[in-house]
Amino acid sequence: MNPMGSLPSALHPSALRALLSTEATQRYRVNASPVELRAPEGAVRMEIDWDDGLSTAYRHEILRGFCPCATCQGHHGPVRWVEPPQSASLVLGSLEQVGNYALRLSWGDGHATGIYTFQFLRELASHGEAAADDVRELRFMR
Ligand SMILES: [Zn+2]
Repeated sequence: MNPMGSLPSALHPSALRALLSTEATQRYRVNASPVELRAPEGAVRMEIDWDDGLSTAYRHEILRGFCPCATCQGHHGPVRWVEPPQSASLVLGSLEQVGNYALRLSWGDGHATGIYTFQFLRELASHGEAAADDVRELRFMR
């Protein structure tokens, strides 16, 4: 019996790199940090380049709907989709780094209590450009 179970005996290095650079990276490399942020005025999505080479993009609606602040989410339970109210702005005001672990996003309507950890942004990355209808059931640990 092979004690190594189902490990492939000969995975070509390039195949391994491809594996590590796609979905696996987004899911498991959760300690990455942004090296560049792009949220130009008038844009409807924010883009992040990470220090491990991954680039991710988030529609503003997705960021606002998953605003992790206590006002939006309450104090308990996972972060879930909260339909942005009619009065909510999807215009990003300022982006401010918090310590070395998070970004604070300020919206055009003055809502500025959302602190998005880098880890949360990585977990959200594979849904960053999804339609709202496709993310309503998602939950994220906090
Ligand atoms: Zn909020």
